[in-house]
Amino acid sequence: MSDSLSLPAGPMGQWPALEAGWVWLCGAGPGDPGLLTLHAVNGLRQADVVVYDALVEDTILDWAPQADHIYAGKRGGRPSARQADISLHLVDLAKQGKRVLRLKGGDPFVFGRGGEEAQTLIQHAIPIRIIPGISAGIGGLAYAGIPVTHRDVNQAVTFVTGHDQTGNAPSSLNWQAIADGAQVLVIYMGMKHAPHIATALLEAGRPADEPVAVVCAATTPQQTVLETTLGEMVADIANARLEPPAILCIGRSVLMRQVLDWQGLMAGIPPRNLDPLGRGRPAETG
Ligand code: SAH
Repeated sequence: MSDSLSLPAGPMGQWPALEAGWVWLCGAGPGDPGLLTLHAVNGLRQADVVVYDALVEDTILDWAPQADHIYAGKRGGRPSARQADISLHLVDLAKQGKRVLRLKGGDPFVFGRGGEEAQTLIQHAIPIRIIPGISAGIGGLAYAGIPVTHRDVNQAVTFVTGHDQTGNAPSSLNWQAIADGAQVLVIYMGMKHAPHIATALLEAGRPADEPVAVVCAATTPQQTVLETTLGEMVADIANARLEPPAILCIGRSVLMRQVLDWQGLMAGIPPRNLDPLGRGRPAETG
């Protein structure tokens, strides 16, 4: 039983206790602490130690002032030789009887190696709980005013990583199949290999004027959004000097930002186009 959250009763009547010797593998969401789940806050409040990644915002660590904060970040694209070390460090901390919160950006099971860490922990008989988080490719796009699905645009979303384990553009991806089949692409870790990705998609037949959004540092005070096209995106990213972390969204859902840029609206910028998909009818009809 935990009284760490002064909130209405949790699941099954009470909030779970983070017990000594346990590891909770927890998503921190894309940045804004308001996007933490209640389970994440409950874990942050109880942890002896928070082992966090590069993409976890500092302000989120403030939610665990009582805990030791251990940085276990790995910069995107580097060979992941240290992944085993991180997992074994978690095993060690748990064996020391600590209450361990392993905090990862976004969702731990979305391009986050959470599956590997969880597997290692279970192989070492460490009890775990998984706490999903809001993934940057969904929540980050929402903060940019881009709905990841829209009835008039797509019936499927394709999540892609721009890196493989070695830091190269992923050779296992069939770009022709992706270009043919993916209505909307959401690309994580796509900045380093943006030229490769753009060329592959263009060669596979995607149109050069296809809308693209590059959402950097989504949901943080530093969020920036670039709207471009598949043909122009590499030059535009370079000209705007955009830096990771960034989500690339490729597809017509990007056009919805012209009406749904709610942060722009809050700043007093009127919508650019109330009907960017050209439906010619009120959105709520048929
Ligand atoms: N598990 C994470 C993804 C980890 S991979 C999740 O579910 O969101 C790291 C990549 O995630 C970055 O290279 C970037 O593409 C994306 N990313 C994470 N946080 C982001 C943010 N605040 N803004 C934009 N992209 C982000």
